[in-house]
Amino acid sequence: MRFIFLIIYFLFFTFNCAFALDVVYPSSKDITVNAPSIYFYGNTNPKSMLKINSESVKLFDEGIFVQVVPLFYGVNNITVESIHNGKTQKQVYKVTRNKPEPQKTLPLPYVEKNKNYFLYTKTINDRSTVREKASNSSKRVIELPKGVVLYLAGKKGDFYKIEENGKTEFWIHKSNIEEPVIVSKRIQGKIKQPEYESDKFYNYTKIALSYPVMYTVEQDGKKLILTLYGVKDPNNNTNDSGNLEFVFEDEDQVLGYDGFFEDDKFVLRRAKIADKINPYAPLHNIRIFIDAGHGGSEKGAIGPTRVFEKDINLSISKKLIKLLKAKGAIVSYSRIDDSKVNLYDRVDKAKENNAFISLSIHNNSLPPNKNPFITHGCEVYYYNDNAKVLAYIIKNNLAKDLKIKDNGLYKSSYALNRSTNPISVLIEVAYMINPDEYKKLRSDKFQMEVAKSITKSLEQFMILLKK
Ligand SMILES: [Zn+2]
Repeated sequence: MRFIFLIIYFLFFTFNCAFALDVVYPSSKDITVNAPSIYFYGNTNPKSMLKINSESVKLFDEGIFVQVVPLFYGVNNITVESIHNGKTQKQVYKVTRNKPEPQKTLPLPYVEKNKNYFLYTKTINDRSTVREKASNSSKRVIELPKGVVLYLAGKKGDFYKIEENGKTEFWIHKSNIEEPVIVSKRIQGKIKQPEYESDKFYNYTKIALSYPVMYTVEQDGKKLILTLYGVKDPNNNTNDSGNLEFVFEDEDQVLGYDGFFEDDKFVLRRAKIADKINPYAPLHNIRIFIDAGHGGSEKGAIGPTRVFEKDINLSISKKLIKLLKAKGAIVSYSRIDDSKVNLYDRVDKAKENNAFISLSIHNNSLPPNKNPFITHGCEVYYYNDNAKVLAYIIKNNLAKDLKIKDNGLYKSSYALNRSTNPISVLIEVAYMINPDEYKKLRSDKFQMEVAKSITKSLEQFMILLKK
């Protein structure tokens, strides 16, 4: 009985294998892509002849195909056929490309505030994002905690303009604040003399305030500039625009830092290097957080034979954690198995562990209008200036050590590299869609080389800090 079952299973399996055509992307048979091209990728029997719209397509190892297909305006019917031993597997895709719409009229500018009243509100979320413009895609200025008092100067769409001005305007989305109320006068915030404290990991400056106010922390070379808005100082540190400014220069380079409110105080926390860095063991006692991107139901990018990015990220991360521990580093991590971890839980975990450096490990995918043979290689992302040097070292070493294309260093905002504390870098080792890189990424040897290269970069960075 079992034998018969096995035979049937075997026949079914081989039959299926011979004619398999697995189109991984597009993942839907009916999609809209407003671009001049789309890529198709997946796998089929390596001995098949693969055609997309009657044109022969190159098959890589394991029958992997990655093909860029041009799109006309309107509906494009795209047929993918795998022909083997005179039999054909066929799938038809409907890809719509729309004509660009004429520019819509821009929303009216916000209404200037009436001088006889003030609009008062408070932030209601931790990580209430303040932006430079009235748009969710505009640059982030700071993420304020819950309870910060704000006075508003106007509205545009769903955004309110905060009265304060620094180098830029400040805008906040309505979902981050209480319903604004009209008040007849504005209370003036006051501060007391700052207190300085220090522990094993950080230097702290604590400033007592009459209420929590809008603040920004900016890096200017070796300096950190803290600005408290709408606050009066008995000792008169007020700058030209009427805000309070504090300048810190603790080390030769700005390390991790963050600001938060603690009881009635604003705290600016700056990381320090606790012990002397030993040039022969530069990672000894250094606290490093490793984040393996995605996990659980969040698969990340999917390769042409359906290997998931989350699994490759984890595999590289585990090797990296092991190497770093062997170098004496104190390593913490977001996940060590296939569990799903919320983005901000990852960020919080790095802080809870007082990490000095945080690295998020990913592998890349592409928007459908790009060409995976042109856009590939390693990319490294930082957001804050304090992570730029480390990001640069990691990128250069990866490209050199792995002999893959150097696809650049980018200043870009992701949850895992936006945090100013710890020093935070996000690494896209290589592209899951590029056949050559996809093959490498699945090899243990290559993953080990990635881990070694990153470890070397961390050592080089710590030696730089030593001076
Ligand atoms: Zn990813």
